[in-house]
Amino acid sequence: MGEFDLIARYFTRPAGQAVLGVGDDCALLQPRPGTQLAVSSDMLVEGRHFFADVNPFALGHKALAVNLSDLAACGAKPLAFTLALALPDIDEDWLAGFSKGLLALADAHGCELVGGDTTQGPLNICITVFGEVPVVQGKSQALLRSGARAGDDVYVSGTLGDARLALEALRGALALPPLMLAQSRLRLEQPTPRVALGQALRGIASAAIDVSDGLLGDLRHILRASKTGATLETALAINLVAACALPDWSAAGIDAEKQLEFALAGGDDYELAFTAPASAREAVQAAARQAQTPVTRIGRIDADPGLRLLDAAGAPMERHYASFDHFA
Ligand code: ADP
Ligand code: MG
Repeated sequence: MGEFDLIARYFTRPAGQAVLGVGDDCALLQPRPGTQLAVSSDMLVEGRHFFADVNPFALGHKALAVNLSDLAACGAKPLAFTLALALPDIDEDWLAGFSKGLLALADAHGCELVGGDTTQGPLNICITVFGEVPVVQGKSQALLRSGARAGDDVYVSGTLGDARLALEALRGALALPPLMLAQSRLRLEQPTPRVALGQALRGIASAAIDVSDGLLGDLRHILRASKTGATLETALAINLVAACALPDWSAAGIDAEKQLEFALAGGDDYELAFTAPASAREAVQAAARQAQTPVTRIGRIDADPGLRLLDAAGAPMERHYASFDHFA
């Protein structure tokens, strides 16, 4: 099998909404009138973002999920994506699993594969997604990092820390009961991008980001872009862990301190962190119900720069968690 058979076999399907899909020098997309195109790329490198022996179906899912998560953070509706793939060799079992996981998630979100590039080399997956955001009365409805204002509430969707829990277990740093390992591993390897929530929050949230490198680190990006600070109540934030599918972290020997660290700095969660004015609390909960994604309020935005943590009694807490940085 050569490069072109491989593309035809695993990555070519008839164009749907796209004007032109795989097969020519460019794909053609037709953004609808009154919309902007939202574009984002994410690369996954073996040994850096995933273990060499990871299940290819899960890898296909995750490669697209992390990209859809960026669209979600902008409130964009997925349209299409391209796939640039470097493969060490042609392994048909691997390609079948990978393309299945990739295209199943693509179908679930109506996001078409319209092109890409395929080369020989160390396993590397780079996806670029395209989404659309409405423009209403000349104003983009995209959710940005820069819109948070003093007095806004801070929210996080779903649960945090599960992916980090699985990562520590797979590294052998801690031992988990089989069910807990299976559930947290699913969160690490096949995250759920909060695409519906992002769109439901348009016109409600003042700022948003997806949580890929750990909540505190990612929240700091909002604070920097918005020139604000924030105070988080750890007693509220810890609920993000307690809400996890199997709340038995303590039984597994993971104490409250570690739970908090995994929730606040874990990484790979692909939840949305966002801010909204206090007057929008009901609207936020309505959006969460509409998107069938729970959201938890964990603090507020302050005019004072910096990120402060409060303990259950409301006293300041000092914690310095490293946030993920490829070159740090
Ligand atoms: P070019 O020589 O113009 O770069 P290629 O020969 O690399 O084009 O690719 C042929 C067609 O197959 C193009 O339409 C390209 O977008 C598509 N393509 C290549 N690799 C992939 C892939 N991994 N997934 C989807 N489409 C692909
Ligand atoms: Mg090419």
